[in-house]
Amino acid sequence: MFDYLIVGAGFAGSVLAERLASQLHKSVLIIDKRPHIAGNAFDHYNEDGILVHRYGPHIFHTNSKEVFDYLSQFTAWRPYEHRVLASVDGQLVPMPINLDTINKLYGLSLTSFEVEDFFKSVAEDVSPVRTSEDVVVSKVGRELYEKFFRNYTRKHWGMDPSELDKSVTSRVPVRSNRDDRYFTDTFQAMPLHGYTSMFEKLLAHPNIKIMLNTDYHEILDLIPFREMIYTGPVDEYFGFCFGKLPYRSLEFKHETLDAPVHLPAAVVNYPNEHAYTRITEFKYLTGQQHPKTSVVYEYPKAEGDPYYPVPRPENAAIYNQYKKLADATPGVHFVGRLATYKYYNMDQVVAQALTLFKKLAGQEQALPVLDGALAEHNGHRLKAEAVELRVSLNGDSKIT
Ligand code: FAD
Ligand code: UDP
Repeated sequence: MFDYLIVGAGFAGSVLAERLASQLHKSVLIIDKRPHIAGNAFDHYNEDGILVHRYGPHIFHTNSKEVFDYLSQFTAWRPYEHRVLASVDGQLVPMPINLDTINKLYGLSLTSFEVEDFFKSVAEDVSPVRTSEDVVVSKVGRELYEKFFRNYTRKHWGMDPSELDKSVTSRVPVRSNRDDRYFTDTFQAMPLHGYTSMFEKLLAHPNIKIMLNTDYHEILDLIPFREMIYTGPVDEYFGFCFGKLPYRSLEFKHETLDAPVHLPAAVVNYPNEHAYTRITEFKYLTGQQHPKTSVVYEYPKAEGDPYYPVPRPENAAIYNQYKKLADATPGVHFVGRLATYKYYNMDQVVAQALTLFKKLAGQEQALPVLDGALAEHNGHRLKAEAVELRVSLNGDSKIT
C-alpha cells in the first residue's frame, strides 16, 4: 500500500513527492501519462545534441527566496536574464515596451521623463480596469496596444484582449527606462544541467517509485494507496460534470539550423505577422556551445494538450464549482496549474506545492489527537493509523 498516489510528475507532483518522501518518510507512487518526468518543463538533448525544451521555452524567475533555496538543493544554476524583441512595423524592438522601444519605433530621442509624458499623453482614461485591453490602453494608449498586444493576444488566446481578465497582459510591464529584461525578479537563473536533470534529483529518493506512460485511471483499482495528489486538469477529474473548462493549447514546431546563431535575441515575438506567436532559440537560455542551433515556433490552437487556463470571469465561475467539489473530496488534494486552473509560473506552482506540503505535515502532527469524526472526514484513513503515526512522527522535528 502506497501512502500517496501522485498523478502528474511536473513541478506540483514532483515537489510534493520529494517533500512527502524525505520529510514525512511516506511511500509515494508518482505516475504520468507521458513517457517522461518534469511535466511541461521537460527538456532533453535532441538528435543533434542540443538541449531543447519540448513544450516551449521555460525561463525560471522568482522573488521567493524560499522557492529558490528549495530548488537549489537539486540543481546548480546558470545566471540568466531573459530578453525579448518584438517584430513591429518592420523593426525588431525591445519588449516589454521601454524607452528604447518608443525611440526606435518612432525615430525619436526622448529621455525617460519625456517618454513618461508621452505615455500620459496617449493613455486612455479607463475606470475600472477590468480587461486585458483596459490594462494596456490605460498605460500606453490605443496605438501601441494595437501594435504590440491586440493581435498577439488574439492569436495566442483565440479571443480579443477585451474578453480576457486584466491579469493576462498585466504580466508584461511598461517601462520608461532602458531596462530591456523580460523579468525583474530577484532570482533569475536556469538549472545548470537542465530541468529534467533537476527533476531526476528531486525524485531520486528511495521511497519514491515512478511509473510513466500510465494514465491514473489504468491503475486506480490495481494499486492500493491512502491519499491522492492530483495535478491534471480538474474538470477531467470530475468527468466534466460542470462542463469543460477551456484550456488553450499550442503546437510546437522544433527546428535545428546549420548555423551557430539564428536570432538576435533569445525570443522574437511576432504580434502582427505569421501564424506563430514567437520563436525561441534555446542556446541563449542554456548557454550551450554548439556549431548548430535549435529553435521552436509556437502555434496557438484550441484543441490539444491543455497548456494555458484561460483567465476570464465565465471560466472562474465554472472553476469555482469544481473547486467546491474538490474541497469536498476527501483524501484527494488538487495542486498545480491545471488542477487549480491558475495561470501560474513554475515558481508559483512550487510555492503552492510547498504550501500544501506544510498543510499535510500539519495534519500529520494533529492526527494522533484527532477524534473519530475528524478521522472519518479524512476518508482514506482509519483511526488505527493515527496510533501508527504517533510512533512514526515521534521525534521528527524536520517538518517545516
Ligand atoms: P504540468 O507540468 O502540466 O504537469 C502535470 C502533469 O500531469 C503532466 O505531465 C501530465 O502529463 C500529467 N497528467 C495529467 N493528467 C494525467 C492523468 N490522467 N494521468 C497521469 N498523468 C496525468 N513558467 C515559468 O515560470 N517560466 C516560463 O518561461 C514558462 N514558460 C512556459 C511556456 C509554455 C509554452 C507553457 C505551456 C508554460 C510555461 N510556463 C512557464 C508554466 C509552467 O510550465 C508551469 O507553471 C508548470 O510546468 C506547471 O507545473 P504543474 O506540475 O502544475 O503542471
Ligand atoms: N502579450 C502580447 N504581446 C507580446 C507579449 C505578450 O500581447 O509581445 C500578451 C499576450 O496576451 C500574452 C500575455 O501578454 O499571452 C502574457 O505574455 P507572456 O510572455 O507572459 O506569456 P507566456 O510566456 O506565459 O506565454
